[in-house]
Amino acid sequence: MTEKIKIKDGKLIVPENPVIPFIEGDGIGKDITLPSQKVIDAAVKKAYNGSKKIQWKEFPAGEKAFKQTGNYLPDETLAAFKEYLVGIKGPLQTPVGGGIRSLNVALRQALDLFVCLRPVRWFKGVPSPIRYPSLVDMHIFRENTEDIYAGIEYMAGGVDAGKLRDFLIKEMGVDKIRFPESSSFGIKPVSKEGSERLIRAAVNYAIKRKLPSVTLVHKGNIMKFTEGAFKNWGYELAEQEFAEQTFTWRQYEDLKKSEGKEAADVALNEAKKTGKVIIKDVITDAFLQESLLKPFDHSVIATMNLNGDYISDQLAAMVGGIGISPGANINFRSGYAIFEATHGTAPDIAGTGKANPSSLILSGVMLLEYLGWDMAAEHVYDAMEHTFAKRRVTSDLYAQMEGATLLSTSEFADEIINNMH
Ligand code: NAD
Repeated sequence: MTEKIKIKDGKLIVPENPVIPFIEGDGIGKDITLPSQKVIDAAVKKAYNGSKKIQWKEFPAGEKAFKQTGNYLPDETLAAFKEYLVGIKGPLQTPVGGGIRSLNVALRQALDLFVCLRPVRWFKGVPSPIRYPSLVDMHIFRENTEDIYAGIEYMAGGVDAGKLRDFLIKEMGVDKIRFPESSSFGIKPVSKEGSERLIRAAVNYAIKRKLPSVTLVHKGNIMKFTEGAFKNWGYELAEQEFAEQTFTWRQYEDLKKSEGKEAADVALNEAKKTGKVIIKDVITDAFLQESLLKPFDHSVIATMNLNGDYISDQLAAMVGGIGISPGANINFRSGYAIFEATHGTAPDIAGTGKANPSSLILSGVMLLEYLGWDMAAEHVYDAMEHTFAKRRVTSDLYAQMEGATLLSTSEFADEIINNMH
């Protein structure tokens, strides 16, 4: 019987044997998909003793789909990700040549997956460039549909850039364009609705997982009406929709002004003691510094598209790089979610058995958590920790670890399964 995940009143209804559509992906996608599924299946079996099981169902996309159907992203595949709500994918090569959109972008847009979620945690034994990687436990909520992602840009010298320049100068009275004739232009839309749905999802996530804080990361000191508005909308949302569960820095500052620092400190400490989520904000450049120096100060991070891009890669590098960082694109309203490896297709090592499957395995773990199958997720975390601690790793990590044992992609996955106790 086909068992589909459904959503009712904002809650997922997950059958015991849900069908999960998957896209194998290009390049190393073929190398990492099966081993990753084996690990996830083993963890589910260990946790639920056969009462739950994922039914994996492949749908074509990328090179494989193009060979079969002449289309990089067949309608059938898009329809499947809608029908089954939750899916997973390997990396897809961006087709070279004009007129073909990135397949990843096409999937995100078709399902309006407005959150790009990247949890960042360190596994003992994994080489890290920072001194205390064990203090890193952050969850990035990157807005996925606005800001620079809207792609509204006009090239210098073009008719459209000229029209926009004239409009800005003549209609809007802009007089600060230093070299108007040779300027390109870009527009970043940031809306109240778009900001609110992203921040709402981040706050709900922090509450559900009992995480201590949500940091709104922005460049509002310079871009007041886009990034600054994002921050203000975030504070307003927290204070209105989550008054009982949060305490904001804005409230702290107001209290400080009206009743003094001591009273504000008492209120903040009380909020922390009673498990309220602290909502704060940090300017992006300061955040990039703080995340290195004081990673323990930040837990959930809510930010716009471009900031999120920089932050995701820096934080991933702090815990061992993109080879082991998972990700997901989610619409927390409709329930649509696609979990994915965050790295690319790595054509240089495809088919050699060198690929590290950790990113895809951990995105599978995120999927398990999304389904509420936390016990299975814990089995994978534990087993991966043991595997890294024993220094039995794939070639990317082997090169950086003293006394390590080199394993192929599938040997590494089997090792994780053997370490599930
Ligand atoms: P890449 O991530 O494929 O490779 C960068 C480097 O990291 C390479 O040296 C590669 O060997 C290594 N690497 C990546 N993943 C690894 C893993 N799991 N184990 C070990 N080493 C790994 O980035 P790229 O070369 O810039 O992109 C190649 C293709 O992938 C492009 O077509 C790009 O568009 C696509 N891409 C897709 C996604 C996605 O589907 N989400 C993301 C990024 C890039």
